Amino acid sequence: MARKPLIAANWKMYKTPAQAQEFVTAFLPLVANHDRDEIILFPSTTSLSVVVAAASGSNVAVGGQNMYFTDEGAFTGETSPVMLKAVGVTHVLVGHSERRHYFCESDEIVDKKLHAAFRHGLKPIVCIGETLEQHEKGQTHDVCLRQIRDGLKDVTAEMAKTLVVAYEPLWAIGTGQSATPEAASEVHAIIRDDIARMIDEETAINTRILYGGSVKPDNIDALMVKPDIDGVLVGGASLDPQSFARIVKYC
Ligand code: PEP
Repeated sequence: MARKPLIAANWKMYKTPAQAQEFVTAFLPLVANHDRDEIILFPSTTSLSVVVAAASGSNVAVGGQNMYFTDEGAFTGETSPVMLKAVGVTHVLVGHSERRHYFCESDEIVDKKLHAAFRHGLKPIVCIGETLEQHEKGQTHDVCLRQIRDGLKDVTAEMAKTLVVAYEPLWAIGTGQSATPEAASEVHAIIRDDIARMIDEETAINTRILYGGSVKPDNIDALMVKPDIDGVLVGGASLDPQSFARIVKYC
């Protein structure tokens, strides 16, 4: 099974519903009939309904940037998988480094969220990656391995059919300093080996591994040439429709 490339926009805490609507109105014509790649927008929670409605019937899917792992309860400020499903969302980001760093999400929480996503039929993109300090100490592989082992506990081959992994080195996120295509591709190959050991070879071959960290219109082409890079998760450069459309249409 060939891995269909996936290009995803993480808008983080940017855009009001009106601005999100404006983006979709401008963006859809730019990517009309584009089916080489899967395209997903991850707006903030308050814009989900608006973006789902605006993108309805198009080639663009919508996901939540985060969710809690229980269906309902006294968890002020949280959003449940049931709520995401109810607004028509199909995907969810799990364990983004900003969630891990600013909101103390551990691998154990990531694992719970991942299983909640599988239970509710939400397709998860699980984010992993090392800090600058870990990178400089040569610990990239160990960190990714630990995050895969502890964050993907008891994930079966059946569950993993919808799993996507995003390798996002923290030192590259929002810094303008992307990993080189060679370095990113090398880590992706290591992650794929880890998945083969943890689940099985077939799952490893079929799982899409995205790169994230300062992806821009001017570095996307070189990244997507690498066979182990199955797409990208884009923050800053996804906020503008022209810029994100250029990324979607990499050469
Ligand atoms: C991200 O938010 O996942 C990300 C990769 O951000 P940026 O593209 O801005 O580095």
